[in-house]
Amino acid sequence: MRSISIFGATGSIGESTFDLIQRAGGPAAYRTVAVTGARNVARLAEMARELRAEVAVTADEALLPDLRAALAGSGVEAAAGAAALAEAADRPADWVMSGIVGAAGLVPGMRALRHGRTLALANKESLVTAGPLLMATAAAHGATILPVDSEHSAVFQALTGEDAGAVERVIITASGGPFRDWPLERLARATVAEAKAHPNWSMGNRISIDSASMFNKALELIETREFFGFPPEMIEVLVHPQSIVHALVGFRDGGVMAHLGPADMRHAIGFALHWPDRGHIPVERLDLARLGSLSFEAPDDRRFPALRLAREVMALRGLAGAAFNAAKEIALDHFMAGGIGFLDMAAVVEDTLERLSAEVALTSPVGTLEDVLAMDHLARTRAGELALKRKEGGRA
Ligand code: NAD
Ligand code: MG
Repeated sequence: MRSISIFGATGSIGESTFDLIQRAGGPAAYRTVAVTGARNVARLAEMARELRAEVAVTADEALLPDLRAALAGSGVEAAAGAAALAEAADRPADWVMSGIVGAAGLVPGMRALRHGRTLALANKESLVTAGPLLMATAAAHGATILPVDSEHSAVFQALTGEDAGAVERVIITASGGPFRDWPLERLARATVAEAKAHPNWSMGNRISIDSASMFNKALELIETREFFGFPPEMIEVLVHPQSIVHALVGFRDGGVMAHLGPADMRHAIGFALHWPDRGHIPVERLDLARLGSLSFEAPDDRRFPALRLAREVMALRGLAGAAFNAAKEIALDHFMAGGIGFLDMAAVVEDTLERLSAEVALTSPVGTLEDVLAMDHLARTRAGELALKRKEGGRA
């Protein structure tokens, strides 16, 4: 029986993973080692009981008593805090879902890779933050990283059996989010509730807002570069409002392989769970005749400065990815808390990169995890200062 762990079990990706495991027979089909979450300990305990996990870990140490109480009599161990999360990643498991949101997913993912595990990577932030380190760690320990982001799973599938050297371009699609056709002036006043309302995908709040601002696609451009190793000029973004075609790979003979599927993350998660086989996944089947038509358009750089910033970060490489992701996370925190406007998020990220480039070498290679975490910390501090300045009406 295969053993699994789910990091970020209580989130959107975690729930979809849990659903696939349960449909397959739950504890009768998989041995669950660890499930982790942050604040929703009631749900975490429920999942741990149903899967008969070895251990349940909450990231929040203050919630340990609640988690213990919720697990009383279940035989599931309760643990809390960052060290417990990392320790949970040290426990032997064949397949590990990296479904935490944000750079917080980096350390558990790295730990799992150091043990040579198969890491199903939904946590794109870890590739943006420390791509070269993550890929080198996987290679050094014989670990496998399988992309779970729908676009990257699509590229991975389109590349299967192909010669990577024959690839001419990679195109990842973007729905354009809820603001695709809003006038620019209105974007400045967009609310958190409006930004959260993704037209096609049901996802966590943070990635939904990142989809509206295109910061999600910006992260995905970098993720494509880091995971597959294609140079930035080979990677394109194409707006496709229906979210049916997830990515396309063009070859030097002019042929293009596209990957299509319904907007349901259980496809990409299930693909990674069953890889290299193909399992039966209970997603809705595509009915193209009913859909009738699919449309495509070029992204508007004025509307979505995040894409331009991602290109700048890819040109710098090094620790710029860690700075970019951290600044984006802080800008998003401030937007969600009502401190800054929707368009201020990109401005805060741009100001942070500018400020940091005068202070440190953003192009320093991604050497150790400590270097990455130090840059992450510094960028969070600067982005926080710059966001406050913006909130108070000043400009950096
Ligand atoms: P979510 O907000 O729904 O869930 C996040 C999970 O991480 C929860 O279990 C939460 O408790 C946990 N968590 C949050 N902060 C934490 C911290 N500081 N330390 C430890 N755990 C923490 O997010 P999601 O939408 O499921 O996204 C998870 C990851 O998958 C993200 O990296 C996202 O970009 C990526 N992803 C998500 C989707 C999707 O459809 N939801 C699609 C592609 C990629
Ligand atoms: Mg995606």
